[in-house]
Amino acid sequence: YHRDKDLGRRFGLDVGGTLGKLVYLEKADAATELGDVHTFMLANTSYSKSSMRDADMALSLPGGQVHFVRFETSKLEGVVEFVRHRCFHRDIRAIPCTGGGAFKFSKLFEDHVGITLEKCDELACLIQGLGFVMRHVPDECYTFKNVALNHQGMGEATKTIVHTPTSELYPFLLVNIGSGVSILKVTSATEYSRVSGTSLGGGTYLGLCKLLSKYKSFDEAMVASIAGDSNAVDMTVGDIYGGNYTQFNLSADTLASSFGKMGTKYEPKSGVKDEDVARSLLIMITTNIGQVAYLSAQRSDTQRIYFCGNFLRQNEIASRQLAYAIDYWSKSKMQAQFFHHEGFFGALGALLTHNQ
Ligand code: ADP
Repeated sequence: YHRDKDLGRRFGLDVGGTLGKLVYLEKADAATELGDVHTFMLANTSYSKSSMRDADMALSLPGGQVHFVRFETSKLEGVVEFVRHRCFHRDIRAIPCTGGGAFKFSKLFEDHVGITLEKCDELACLIQGLGFVMRHVPDECYTFKNVALNHQGMGEATKTIVHTPTSELYPFLLVNIGSGVSILKVTSATEYSRVSGTSLGGGTYLGLCKLLSKYKSFDEAMVASIAGDSNAVDMTVGDIYGGNYTQFNLSADTLASSFGKMGTKYEPKSGVKDEDVARSLLIMITTNIGQVAYLSAQRSDTQRIYFCGNFLRQNEIASRQLAYAIDYWSKSKMQAQFFHHEGFFGALGALLTHNQ
């Protein structure tokens, strides 16, 4: 890392459609150079209802300690106002920023706190952040071994840390599940192309959840979906056949139609719990992404599929389901892999553009 006077270069910002992600590089001189900002950030893990530091994600890297903070994009104006009120912007001229917010909110930052957002492309940042973590963080990746179905039609497997292969890493497929989904084929540390995408992503899950259930936040919906039973709303092969569909080897508990049972009831809402809706939505969105990912991998000739994005944050149902889907569709020839810092690669990439 080279020394840089503008303290804004110690941050990397990624402002997406739903969440803002901020990484902060703590250098040895942080307490004197950044004073209040540094103290405030490290003294708390929760800054408001929707703005947190993920303390257990902090990384010790050659240039210093990296800290990870996230907030809701819809609350960004409040965040900027808070920064202004506390004079946290005093020594900061420019912050590298990626995501659509780098464009959308540049005037807000200029006008209120005199900070320039230095725009960095979001996919380039994503790849750069991902590559950096793959090279420097040994326990970053995990997968699920012995993928099999349990009686609820869910993937049941053991979570295992996998080390990044030193050879034959490329090409791989990267599926970024944020508000929407972007699918990239990555062919080297700096080369990639966007091969596909789908608008049915994490934003769809959260939006439909808020619309169709009583849950008001992603975390609430996650907890509920663990308890929920998707078969209360979904139509299975068994519901249609009265048992297995033997000719095509589809067991009675195979999902045939997400939310299908609701279409056959006179009063769909009666007897259906909110947690069942949350679970079914999660399975619906995840199954679809798994299938689009598999087809994209086939089309672009990649064996390994990496999944990232905040939809997978504290969402083991989705990651297990994706691991199962990839194993199932590929007849165990492909493997799905995940990351502990799944949502922060863009912000990390923005930080790295001035710190390598
Ligand atoms: P974006 O850059 O489009 O905002 P992210 O990778 O940050 O994308 O992922 C956003 C998605 O992550 C949301 O749509 C939601 O499904 C999920 N998510 C995880 N944690 C939260 C949270 N605390 N608040 C809102 N959404 C969350």
